[in-house]
Parts: sequence; C-alpha cells; structure tokens
Amino acid sequence: MKSLRTANLWLAIVPMLIAVAVLIALAAASMYALSGVRAFVGAEGLWSRAEKDAMYYLVRYAHSANASDYQTYQALIAVPVGDRKAREALDRPAAAVDYEAARRGFLEGRNDAAGIDSMSAIFVHLRHRPYVANAIDIWAQADRLIERINSNAIELQTAVQGSRDPGRIEAIVAQLQSLNEQLDLLEDEFSYTLGQASRWATRLLVIFLTIPGAVMVIVAGLVYGRKFSRTLTADAVLRESQEVLSLAMRGGRMGAFVCDLATNEVWWSHELEELFGLPAGGFPGTEAAFLELVHEQDRATFKQAVEGAITTGTDYAIEFRFRRGPDTWRWMDGRGHAVYGADGRPTRLVGIGIDITEHKQAEESARQFEARFHTMADAIPQLAWIARPDGWVDWYNRRWYEYTGTTPAAVAGWGWESVHDASVLPAVLERWRASIASGEPFDMVLPLRRADGVFRTFLTRIMPLKDDAGRVLQWFGTGTDITAQQRAEETLRIADRRKDAFIATLAHELRNPLAPIRHALEILRLPGTAAAELVTMRDIIDRQVRHLTRLVDDLLEVSRITRGNVQLRTEFVSLAGPINDAIEAVQPLMKSSGHALTVELPVEPIHLVCDPTRITQVVLNLLNNAAKFTPRGGHIRLSAKREGNEAVIHVGDTGIGIPPANLSRIFEMFSQVSPPIERTHGGLGIGLALARGLVELHAGDIQVSSAGAGRGSEFTVRLPLSSTAEPTASSPCAGEKVVRCGARRRILVVDDNLDSAHSLGKLLQHMGQEVQEAHDGVDAINAADEFQPDVVMMDIGMPKLNGYDAAREIRLRAGSRALTIMAVTGWGQDEDKQRSAAAGFDGHFTKPIDATQLQAMLDRIPPGNQAVTAAT
Ligand code: ADP
Repeated sequence: MKSLRTANLWLAIVPMLIAVAVLIALAAASMYALSGVRAFVGAEGLWSRAEKDAMYYLVRYAHSANASDYQTYQALIAVPVGDRKAREALDRPAAAVDYEAARRGFLEGRNDAAGIDSMSAIFVHLRHRPYVANAIDIWAQADRLIERINSNAIELQTAVQGSRDPGRIEAIVAQLQSLNEQLDLLEDEFSYTLGQASRWATRLLVIFLTIPGAVMVIVAGLVYGRKFSRTLTADAVLRESQEVLSLAMRGGRMGAFVCDLATNEVWWSHELEELFGLPAGGFPGTEAAFLELVHEQDRATFKQAVEGAITTGTDYAIEFRFRRGPDTWRWMDGRGHAVYGADGRPTRLVGIGIDITEHKQAEESARQFEARFHTMADAIPQLAWIARPDGWVDWYNRRWYEYTGTTPAAVAGWGWESVHDASVLPAVLERWRASIASGEPFDMVLPLRRADGVFRTFLTRIMPLKDDAGRVLQWFGTGTDITAQQRAEETLRIADRRKDAFIATLAHELRNPLAPIRHALEILRLPGTAAAELVTMRDIIDRQVRHLTRLVDDLLEVSRITRGNVQLRTEFVSLAGPINDAIEAVQPLMKSSGHALTVELPVEPIHLVCDPTRITQVVLNLLNNAAKFTPRGGHIRLSAKREGNEAVIHVGDTGIGIPPANLSRIFEMFSQVSPPIERTHGGLGIGLALARGLVELHAGDIQVSSAGAGRGSEFTVRLPLSSTAEPTASSPCAGEKVVRCGARRRILVVDDNLDSAHSLGKLLQHMGQEVQEAHDGVDAINAADEFQPDVVMMDIGMPKLNGYDAAREIRLRAGSRALTIMAVTGWGQDEDKQRSAAAGFDGHFTKPIDATQLQAMLDRIPPGNQAVTAAT
C-alpha cells in the first residue's frame, strides 16, 4: 500500500518537474532575449554616440583641417563600421552565420562582450520576428548611410588636403549633415523598434513566467489538492467501509472467519464471536474449538460439506446448529470456500457464518401454519384449491380429489377444466381470466363432474390474497356443493306455490257448504214454510255442517300426522269390518254418481292388527276419489286379498286417470292434478296425504298406478299381517251406546260468542237440562257462585279472564261440591287437550259438539252434583 502511494506520488511529481523545467527554460530564453534586446539598446547608444561624435570631428576637420580631428573621426566611425561587420557576419543563411566574425565586429563596435552572444542569438534566431527584422533592416539602412559618410569623409579629406575649395568643402559638409539627419531619423526609428522589441521580450517573459507559473500553481494546487484530499478520503473511506462492513455483518447477524489449513488456526471476526456469545477475543482460535460448538448431529455433515468444497474448489453452504451459552442451540448458515496457493494446494478457508435462527423459526412456524391450513382445508366438506397469481392451480384439497376422482398430475395448473361441463366451461374461463386480470374475486354457480360422471352444482368462490401494494399473491378457491340446497329451495318454492293454491282451495271448499247453509237459513226464516220443507232445509244444514266438520277434521288430522301426533287405537280385527264401513259410507255418493261398485272380498277373513277407524278412513278416501274422478256411470272396483304376509286392498276406477308426471307426487300434501280454478270436484288435496300417513302408521304402503289421462287409476294399499297377534275380543269400533237419561242438571254455558253460547244452551235445554249463560271469565265466576251448576261448559279464549283461569277459580270456590267442568273450544289438538286437563278441566269438547257426544257426557254425570270424569 505504501509503495503504491509512493508510485502515485512520483507519477504526479515528474510531469510537474518537467513542466517547471520547461517553464524555467522558457523563462531563461525570454530573459536571454530580453538581455539581448537590452544589449542592442546599449549598442545603439554607443553606435549613435560614436556616429555623432565622428560627425562632429569630421565637420571640425572640415574647418580645422587638423589631421587629429580626422583621425578622431576615423576612430569614432570605426564603432558603427564594427557593428556593420558584425551585422554582415550574422545576416546570412543559418549555415553561413559567422559568429566569430560577428563577435569581432561587435567588439570593434565597442559593445559589452557579455551582451555579444545574446545579441547574435537574437539576430540569428529571432530575425523573423517583426521587431527584430525591422531593426536589422533599419540597421542595414544606417550602415549604408555610414558608408556614404565615410566616402564623403574621404572626399572631404581630399578637398581639405588638396584644393581646399571652401565651396566644395561646404558642399561636402552639407552632404554630411544631410546624411547625419537621415541617420538621426533612422536612429529614432531603430530606438523605437528596439523599445518595441524590448517590450515584446518583457511581455514574453511575463507570459512565460507569470501565466504558466500561475497556471502551474493552479494545476499543482488542484492536482495536489485532489491527491491530498484523495489520500485523506481514501483513509476515511477505508475506515468507514470497515465500520459499514462491521455494521452490515452485525445487522445481518453474520461474522467472518479465516482458517489456516496448514496449522488449523482459526481467526474469527468480533461479529462471529458475538454470534456465539463469546467476548471479543474469546474464541480459542482452533478448528477443534469451533467443532466443539457445532451440534453433535450436524458435525459430520458440516465437515463433509467443507471437505467437498475444498476438494472441488467450490463454495460450500450448510445449515447447522451451534451452541450459544450452555443450553441454547441456534441455527447457522455457514458459507465459504478455500483459497489456493500458487502450487494449487489449499492454504486457507475463508467464509462467513450467518445466524438464521429467527429465519428457521419463522420457516418452522410457516410450515406448521401451512400444515394446519392444509389439515383444515382437507377436513372441510367443500372443494378447495390454491392458485398462483397467474391462475395456475398448484394445490387442491383432499375433498377435491375424492369428489372428482382426479390425480394431482392431471389437474395441476389448468387441468381442472376436465371436470367442468363443456357447455359452461367457456363462460367459466372468461370470468376466471377476467378475475386474474383485474384481481377481483370470482363468484359463480357452476356444475362439476363427480368421479362417477354425475354433475352436481357448486357455488364457486375464489378470493385473492393481496400484498400492501394491491398485487395478488395467491388465489384461494372453494366449491360448495349446493345441489341439495338448490333442490330444497325448489321444493320449498313448489310447496309455497302449493300452499297458496291450497289456501285458495280451502277458501273455496269452505264456502261451498256455507252457501247451502245460508240459503236454508233464509228459507227457514220465511213465514209459512211447509213442515216438509223445514225438514229438507234442516237436512241440508246438517249435511253441509257435517261436510265442513269433516274438512276441518281432515286438516287437523293431516297436521297431526305430519307432526307424528296420531295415536292408533289398534285392535285385532278382520279386514272386512273397516272395508264394509267404508263401502256403506260411500254408497250414497256411488248412487248419486251413477257408478257401479264391484267389491271382491276373500271368503277367508283376513285378520290384522289395525286401527279399524283409520283403515275405514283410508278406504273411504280412495272410494270417494274414485267416485269423484270418474265420469258419471263409471265402474269402481274394490278388492281385498291376502298376499303372503300382507293384506292387499285395490281400489280401481275407469275414471280420468292420472298423467305419469303427477304419479310421483300425488300423495304429497296439497297435491292436486288440475289447477284449482279448473277443478270441478271438491277437495283440499290432502286426502291421499292423509291416507298415506295413516297407512304408513300401520307400517304399510300405498301405491298408485294409471295408464295415463282418461285411462283410469288404481290404488293399492298393503298392510302387514301380524304373525304373532292372537285374536282378542274385539271392542266395537263405534262409540259407546248413548243411554238417554232424563235427569235434569244445572249447566253453566260460558262463551264470548253469543250465538255459540245460545245454540249450545238451547240444545242442552232441549235435552232437558237447566241452563244459564255467561259471556266472559269474570261473568262465569259470578254466575257459578249464584247458579251453583253441576256442569260448566267453558270456552277457553275469552276476554277479561280466559277459560283456564276462570275454571280454576270456579273449582276453587266450589270447594268440595261435585262439579264437572268441560272445555268447549275450537282448539282440538292433543296438546290442547293436555293443557285443559292440566288446568283442571274434566273433559274436552272440540267445536262443533256432536249431539251424541254431548248426550253421552250428560249420561255419565249423575244429577245432583256428583262429579264424574267425562272424556271424549
Ligand atoms: P282431493 O281429492 O281433495 O283433491 P286427494 O289428496 O284425495 O285430494 O287427491 C289428490 C289429487 O289426486 C286429486 O285432486 C286428483 O287430482 C288426484 N286423484 C286422486 N284420486 C284419483 C283418481 N281415482 N283418479 C284420478 N285422479 C285422482
């Protein structure tokens, strides 16, 4: 480094010295020129003085004729003549210049010997300079005048020594004076030219000395200034870069090392020592000491990597655990390579160690997170996948492979297209590409093929994960199978439509019986109505009320069945019983419709355990439908037989039939083939739902078949025959016999509906009972206090005080007195009955009350305040 700096210094100094030398040479030359010019100036002074003096002595000689004057003249004129000789010796081509002759000439011209060389040099070398050339020219002109003076002087001497003609002498003197005047002019011009030359030389000197000097000083200043500053900067930079390197190493949690492969001595930087938790200089400096700090399990791999790198001349990079402190293990990324000597043998190993513990921990937690994510994504029932920003899918969850039956290799990237419906795929691709381009989420309902080839509908959502700058890092996609949901929604929509149709039908069906009732009532109101007509009207009202009651019963029944609230009252019976009941009930309809009913029952009775009332209900419903949906004069067939362990009932007709599309849902609630408005037959569309519910309660099955519209229908009911059941004494299906009893009881009728209260009161009076009415709960309590009834017929929903509370209060006030309290309400569900029982009611009548049931209850209550439990 030191020799390099010295070399650099010389490189800068040598040109500078050369420049200074050149400058000095130029300055010397300028000085030389200047001194030459000065010598000429001095010579010109001598020349001028000698010439003037010579002229003086010559003119004096003209008048004195004294030979010494002439000699003095000759001695003085020798000065310009010497100078002329010098000029002539110099004023030649370069090769012919005679410096010696010139020297002699100058010496004759009495010039200072010291200035002769410079005068000659100026003459020869600068003769082409304008001033010098001009001076030489003037000098030559003067020499020619001097020659003419000399020749005039000789003429004068001749004249003085000869004729002494004053005219001649005066003429010569005049001539001499004229020549002298001319010389004066030339002298002035010569002086002026010399002055110019002197100024030029001086300027030259100034130029050569000052300007280059200044330039040199500036350049030197700049060069040395920069050199100096560079030297200073280089040192600072070196120090700085060492600090930066150290900082960078600390910041990057790294340190450096050098290992001498010959001695196994190891040098560690302070940073490396810090990483190992050692104080500065705390590392012992041997390879063995280092290996001690490497985790036992990583030592062999570490050595192997280093040796491999030394052998192959490549870099090694290995991650290993190292000990920092007694119990702390951290991770290091070691990198390095060997340095080889001139003979190719490895001499040193140099490298760095980077503490990557945090990185490793982050890597581990990222790995764990990814594992957790994948576990979770594999556990969800949805299909899931992850795609790169460009849409290339590089991961699918397990469910995807299970559902599609594909393999990772087959669906990587864009392979998922294979499980899409070809007709939908272009739209999917278009929207997916648009999302990739815009970074917007993808949302679409689309079909995906299952492994067995069946397409199911998926709600597909793909969300982008973006960085802070809004660039997409990954896409996360899920596909949720919404096939069932879609079907459920569709079913709901259908059910909703059916419900609307049902409500319209219900309204229609309820109005139908109301119309004849209303008409009959109007007729009854007319004065003078014949007794026979009264009977007809009463029968109409009775039929229609029964019809209405059946409608409402069916509705409640179907509701109970759907909620599983129907209890069968099973008995061991012969199937013929309930079937005959149904036939009997349908007879009037068959007759009025003009149908022929053919019944085919086996000779051998088919016994089974069933609720006979319910079986009658099922068969009656089928017969009713057959009669309703068969045009007048049709043929209805009913048959029952035993098939294996089943009793099989067929009800067939020659009616309008059922289109194949409707067969599957004919048993659903509110399902009717023709739209309500086109229907000519009554019905709520619940009869078959009820029949199926009842049959299924018997663990049986009901099916329909029809060859199509207009080709009749056939319903088949299958009921399991009990193999274990033994015939038991069959209890009658019908209700208990009504025993009329003429005993009179006090009955309090409570109902906020006045008509309801009146009509029930009247009926009871007709039955021979003493009746009092009350129209709300409070009224009822007061009336009971006064009237002391044997029986209270209590409505439930009433103003002021409801039936439950009123009944409780009345019971309380009655104390030990026998009192029967019956609920009379429109709420007829089982839970309603349970609730009224819990409130202390003795029995529960559902409106409208059947007169027979009412009588039956009365029969069970002995008159005279002896309470009995009456249930209906
Ligand atoms: P409803 O008779 O009150 O309409 P059902 O549940 O008993 O209700 O019957 C549902 C529908 O099934 C009927 O509206 C009718 O369209 C069709 N249906 C039932 N029985 C027959 C039959 N024997 N012939 C033709 N259609 C029938």
